[in-house]
Amino acid sequence: MMKKEFKAESKRLLEMMINSIYTQKEIFLRELISNASDAIDKIYYKALTDDQLVFNKDDYYIHITADKDNRTLTITDTGIGMTQEDLENNLGIIAKSGSLAFKSENEAKEGHNIIGQFGVGFYSAFMVADQVTVISKALGSDQAYRWESEGTDGYTIEPCEKDSVGTEITLKIKDNTEDDSYDDYLEDYRLRSIIKKYSDFIRYPIKMEVTGH
Ligand code: ADP
Ligand code: MG
Repeated sequence: MMKKEFKAESKRLLEMMINSIYTQKEIFLRELISNASDAIDKIYYKALTDDQLVFNKDDYYIHITADKDNRTLTITDTGIGMTQEDLENNLGIIAKSGSLAFKSENEAKEGHNIIGQFGVGFYSAFMVADQVTVISKALGSDQAYRWESEGTDGYTIEPCEKDSVGTEITLKIKDNTEDDSYDDYLEDYRLRSIIKKYSDFIRYPIKMEVTGH
């Protein structure tokens, strides 16, 4: 399978992320949860105008599963999903939309750490993961696709199996280094406190499960 390269700017940004100019690595979870919530919003708004689509609140949620034995953290949503083209266009290019743009000045003045004001987006996952796998099935599509990347050297996209519409993002959490501990991102209490800190306002239920030891 051919590996595709990221666009030049994306590559530079990704290098910065991986080498972590950001001290607050924990914000990666805020970014992934906010994307999951946006994806569910998209189904919700579609259902308002599409009679064929019924938005049954119980069917829409965000799942976070930490597997300590395999060092994986998975964020699953039942949102609108991504087609092959979406994966290519949205995850192959950094900083297309709100990413890396400052939020409104007012928000910035609220006194949070300045770094926390950046919408750094999907790529912030690479601050804590050395491999990211996105499995997604778009609403109205029969085929699911797997997007996978280990960072700056590019990404692959291939067809795969997935029963339901939505997206499943799996982070292979980095091994600890002399300077940084990543084990925390697989700990129940730590994940809960990050979610509480940044994602308390999310409208959809966030369910969490930690396995292994
Ligand atoms: P932003 O959220 O500011 O657009 P991101 O880097 O966070 O930037 O995400 C880029 C794009 O990737 C999103 O706009 C969206 O189209 C797509 N995307 C990311 N995560 C998901 C998801 N869980 N479900 C559907 N689409 C997603
Ligand atoms: Mg985002």
